[in-house]
Amino acid sequence: MSAFTQLDYLDLDDQYSEEELMVRDTVRGWITERFNPVVMEHFEEGTFPMELAPELGELGVFGPTTPEEYGGAGMNSVAYGLICQELERGDSGLRSFCSVQGSLVMWPIHEYGSEEQKREYLPKLATGEMIGCFGLTEPDFGSNPGGMLTTARKDGNDYIINGRKMWITNGSVAQIAIVWAKVEGRIRGFIVPTDAKGFSAPNHNHKWSLRASYTSELVMEDVRVPASAMLPGADGLRGPLQCLTQARYGIAWGVIGSAYACFDETLRYQKERISFDKPIAAYQIPQMKFANMATDITCASLLNLRLGRLKDEGRFTSAQVSMAKRNSCKVALETARTCRDMLGANGVTLEYQTGRHMLNLESVITYEGTHDIHTLAIGAEVTGIMAFR
Ligand code: FAD
Repeated sequence: MSAFTQLDYLDLDDQYSEEELMVRDTVRGWITERFNPVVMEHFEEGTFPMELAPELGELGVFGPTTPEEYGGAGMNSVAYGLICQELERGDSGLRSFCSVQGSLVMWPIHEYGSEEQKREYLPKLATGEMIGCFGLTEPDFGSNPGGMLTTARKDGNDYIINGRKMWITNGSVAQIAIVWAKVEGRIRGFIVPTDAKGFSAPNHNHKWSLRASYTSELVMEDVRVPASAMLPGADGLRGPLQCLTQARYGIAWGVIGSAYACFDETLRYQKERISFDKPIAAYQIPQMKFANMATDITCASLLNLRLGRLKDEGRFTSAQVSMAKRNSCKVALETARTCRDMLGANGVTLEYQTGRHMLNLESVITYEGTHDIHTLAIGAEVTGIMAFR
């Protein structure tokens, strides 16, 4: 894969601090040297390079906003966004691996966990010594997680968990699962060791998207955990939803990393490839496509940057995150589809990364709230009328 040059039409680099740029460039170098050479093979095999987890821990990309006292790097949200952008320039599977670990496992433990839970789990999760997953979705409850059927029943000093979760990223490679279950009808979160008796995590095979990522079912049959496994600070659907707001923020930045990668690969290709004695990029139709994509990607990056600054000032809303997640996924998927076409037959091979990104983005536009559900979340905020129930 040739060197990467990022489109920066409005000199956005000027808007980032030196530290933010340093973090981004460090992750960028690692992606180019360590991840890009192996991703195609893993995508083909349907595997994730687990041996890279300690290096990712060293890079500081697991829960980078977690305070240093718990093993995190205490970074700001814009630096975190730029990390996600670089990770997903590599592959959405890699960014998903890190998003789950940071936003859906470390974040709830830090936000809702007891002091003992924070001290026990966060440092190991930050180094990658321990991997986590997040079990919310069920076979019949995706967009409407509040309908979940998984239950946790009190039995002396323990809880007994029964239920099935579906489409769980990292499920089969995790040592702990954050499992959301109903206790007497109320949603609570539990830290469940995946080696507990009655717990299994069979992989969903035959995916044609996010192939470099393990996606599993979580099957829980009378899984017994101590009462101390419950996250004391999470009570009700708000608990998992707030985790999703954190993860969606990272996705909004991440997928634009895929878009930058597709744009760069296609621009190089069309400047070099000759058709009827001229580079393809010299024709008007390709130029219109490049102009449209450059505009959409730049607008999405501006939205993400503004959202990041609002988040760091503590005044961002979940509907604003819906806007960014929805917009970025749409822009990235449309960019990938357009670039795939512009690469001609080469666009359908894995030798070029664009087709892989395009396939991945079909998952990302669905998970963590589908495009249409985010449309309704924005609609509810701007009209004051909820339309998705
Ligand atoms: P449904 O909710 O059945 O939706 C189907 C279609 O109907 C969609 O187009 C949707 O927009 C539309 N729709 C549904 N309800 C409405 C409505 N009220 N109004 C209008 N339209 C509506 N989940 C986890 O808990 N943890 C994970 O780690 C995880 N990882 C995933 C990884 C992958 C690769 C994938 C594909 C999914 C993952 N998910 C995970 C699950 C994901 O979050 C759900 O698939 C997603 O929330 C959508 O739910 P669903 O598939 O049940 O679709």
